[in-house]
Amino acid sequence: MKPADTKIAFIGLGLMGVPMAHNLLKAGYHLKGFDLNSQVAEKFSSIAGFELVSSPAKAIEGSDVTILMLPDSAIIDAMLWGSNGQPGIASQFKSGSYLLDMSSSSPISSRENNQKLSAMGIHFVDAPVSGGVKKAIDGSLAIIVGGQKSDFEVCLPLLEKMGKSIVYVGTAGAAHAVKALNNYVSAAGLIAASEALNAAEKFGLDPHVVNTVFNASTGRNNTTENKVENFMLNEAFNSGFSLALMRKDLQIALGLIEGMNCYSSLAKQCVATARAADEQLGKGADHTAMYGFVKAQS
Ligand code: NAD
Repeated sequence: MKPADTKIAFIGLGLMGVPMAHNLLKAGYHLKGFDLNSQVAEKFSSIAGFELVSSPAKAIEGSDVTILMLPDSAIIDAMLWGSNGQPGIASQFKSGSYLLDMSSSSPISSRENNQKLSAMGIHFVDAPVSGGVKKAIDGSLAIIVGGQKSDFEVCLPLLEKMGKSIVYVGTAGAAHAVKALNNYVSAAGLIAASEALNAAEKFGLDPHVVNTVFNASTGRNNTTENKVENFMLNEAFNSGFSLALMRKDLQIALGLIEGMNCYSSLAKQCVATARAADEQLGKGADHTAMYGFVKAQS
């Protein structure tokens, strides 16, 4: 997939999609982009090779690769297969082209989409990312990949423009499963750190000092290392990953754990806590505002 002979459609130009698309443009790829929010065009004004189009169908016209960076599987499934009497775009993909779903989607939906798309001669690859907006900007995302191994190998040069650690984990849907489980572990760490720091403060301790101790001890996790000082104790709550998306990821992970008939006590509790926080804090809240939610409960 060399920049000169690969036409890309990029659908979903939000907090993550914009910097990922920027890195592909910087590498020399030409992109046709689409997002429901038409203001995204301004974010590409200084970069050559980008064309904002007015529908997903126009974006995929003639494209060798379509990249999806959308909120969830309900939106993706409606776009592919249609909804409310509107047809989907799946039948319009160029034969032999690649669909890379880089969103954090449901592994069950991804397996189904893979089955239907392969029957139509389209290569489906699930390639969700981890690392957040900062790593999306500097092109150092962790990318987890599922699908046919040969499709992974074809897509690797393109993925390398957006990420550093790129790991193939298995057949279609496998990467979305790993991503949801990773985000469950991460969210459990966020909720635990929020509750622990709040209790420490109530006990009369300085939460900055407590977090320093966590980071030198076994309580250390991604939240204590990267979020507590930067987004939580200062109440900035602006990491760039929404609480609504974290709630969605937890729901996917719980569905998977329960679907495998596995013990799910903590996953259930995490879903309940994320739901309560999301409902109380409302649309637009960042996931790090979990700390504010926890503080407000006591
Ligand atoms: P976002 O909400 O900032 O962006 C999503 C974009 O999709 C928005 O611009 C929205 O307008 C657009 N959109 C929604 N429905 C659409 C439709 N039907 N057609 C076209 N565009 C549509 O979300 P984000 O933070 O960029 O996350 C995107 C995906 O990446 C999600 O699945 C998320 O879980 C995952 N993710 C996010 C982060 C992060 O730190 N933000 C990290 C890893 C993975």
